[in-house]
Amino acid sequence: MSSVDLRKLVSFLDKELALSEFPGDESINGLQVEGSSRVHRIGVAVDACDHVFREAAEKQIDFLLVHHGLIWGGIKALTGIMKTRVKTLLDAGISLYACHLPLDWHPVHGNNSRILKLLKIRQTGEFGEYHGRRIGYWGRTGREMSLKEFSSLVDRTLQTETLVRDFGRPVRNVGVVSGGGWSAIYEAAQYDIDTFLTGEPSHSAYSLAEEMKVNLVFAGHYATETVGVRAVGQMLGARYRLMTEFIDHPTGL
Ligand SMILES: [Zn+2]
Repeated sequence: MSSVDLRKLVSFLDKELALSEFPGDESINGLQVEGSSRVHRIGVAVDACDHVFREAAEKQIDFLLVHHGLIWGGIKALTGIMKTRVKTLLDAGISLYACHLPLDWHPVHGNNSRILKLLKIRQTGEFGEYHGRRIGYWGRTGREMSLKEFSSLVDRTLQTETLVRDFGRPVRNVGVVSGGGWSAIYEAAQYDIDTFLTGEPSHSAYSLAEEMKVNLVFAGHYATETVGVRAVGQMLGARYRLMTEFIDHPTGL
């Protein structure tokens, strides 16, 4: 059975995912919990939580890459839920690797570029500043679409149920920021974006979108952030000839 040295895998990922370009990310990106020194089986998931950790342990995964890690800002205390989560990982020898903003932004493996690619929208430029860096992209659809047609395409592609607010424009220039990226709407006029696709619904976005005449498509925080980890999983599987698995634990939010 093929395997890879944990340190080798981590240093490859740190570089490939350009972690050093996001020093201001609140997430402690990179290896957060150290497990077995050799990796035989890789798992990817959106959220670091006990449900996912237990499933990973059952599947004998020894390296788990997630978008939302366990450590934000720093370790405070390993008590309660945090103790249980870390114990599940350590008992099973699972390493936890987190990649937050770099995985929203990444031009090849990232959530936003992958969403555009899956929707067959040509990526035109960066969009959506967050903590001083643009992490989203915008692009033009191949042809003009109705908002209904576009939102059904998003539903099918991301296996989600979008929440849509129609402010009267046909879909041509689409801006995408995954997760809780609603504030990128402020930049919509700058790129003549008519339709803004993000994850989590935000009440604050409504009036701005109405006045800017930008359609809102909320596709779910979870659904918009499955694509990046899956892309990295596929890339690692091919590179190291290892079994990789996506652990799906949808929140529906
Ligand atoms: Zn997120």
